[in-house]
Amino acid sequence: MDWQETLLNKQNLKEILQTDKYDEELFKTAREIATSIYSNKIYIRGLIEFTNYCRNGCYYCGINKSNTKVERYRLSLEEILNCCEIGNSLGIKSFVLQGGEDGYFSTDYMVEIIKAIKTKYPKNALTLSVGEHSYETYKRFFDAGADRYLLRHESCTLEHYNKLHPDNMSLFNRLKCLKNLKEIGFQTGCGIMVGSPYQTIDNIVDDILYMYDFNPQMIGIGPFISHKDTIFKNMPNGSVPLTLRILAIMRILLPNVLLPATTALGTLDKKGRQKGIFAGANVLMPNLSPEKDRKKYLLYDNKIATNEEAVEGLSKLKKLISSIGYEISNDRGDYKY
Ligand code: SAM
Repeated sequence: MDWQETLLNKQNLKEILQTDKYDEELFKTAREIATSIYSNKIYIRGLIEFTNYCRNGCYYCGINKSNTKVERYRLSLEEILNCCEIGNSLGIKSFVLQGGEDGYFSTDYMVEIIKAIKTKYPKNALTLSVGEHSYETYKRFFDAGADRYLLRHESCTLEHYNKLHPDNMSLFNRLKCLKNLKEIGFQTGCGIMVGSPYQTIDNIVDDILYMYDFNPQMIGIGPFISHKDTIFKNMPNGSVPLTLRILAIMRILLPNVLLPATTALGTLDKKGRQKGIFAGANVLMPNLSPEKDRKKYLLYDNKIATNEEAVEGLSKLKKLISSIGYEISNDRGDYKY
């Protein structure tokens, strides 16, 4: 069967998403495509969660501005550089700076941070995941040396997007930001949470087709997990099998895409990340944030936030990956154009 052609049909997508009948063949095809392009290499991104202050009130997110129970923190430039140093010494050649939308980190200050990281680690890739900004701000981040940008679109269906976000947030702006990022030259990532409240199978079908059309270099897909101090606290978590199916579908539709097996997947299922790799994922994002702050960046309940030193965590990850026949790569892991 020509999987690509099959998956570009809405009716087929709907059927494939809702049954386990095709899983074996779907995952095998996705896995073969991933290894044909990226071999058995898994790329590592060292995640630095540098602030949990956020001006937004996304209903699903544990660090949204209305959650008064969160102990807020910000890392200093020195602390951020220290995380990079630890990562670099472990052979991690790609860092992700992720945080809430925190005005304390002005454009000027972010530019200073980006330049400091890129001056010290010129061979390492730097990804930003700091939300929605103007074209000019994104351009300044890019010109300062940032290589990649992650901004999940969350849902391309207006009605659904509006059920996840307060009135002052707009799907139009989010999608415009993604276009701007790509135009500026970032390796750009969009994505969704699987099983986010009120999401329908039709929404997922439309998101898959939106992502196919947008043709990003990275896609972040993980299950929604409820957080006890949000208004979605009683909403059910997303499904692991459905997440795996969507990962496999995106790998088949966009063969070169960089696709993480997310922490959320590993949180809902102990073997989630291995299963993600078997469904075509080729990226892992171990945490480089300081141990003292890791438990404060809780987007959802029970997030994997071990007290392990990064070095210990990475050596376990290496063992795990080699036990399933893959190998952790020591390079930046750029998109293959
Ligand atoms: N502020 C930036 C932004 O909006 O892109 C980056 C940080 S934001 C916390 C990163 C991602 O976490 C979001 O895009 C969202 O998909 C995910 N996330 C937030 N809450 C979640 C939850 N309860 N379950 C699973 N993923 C969640």
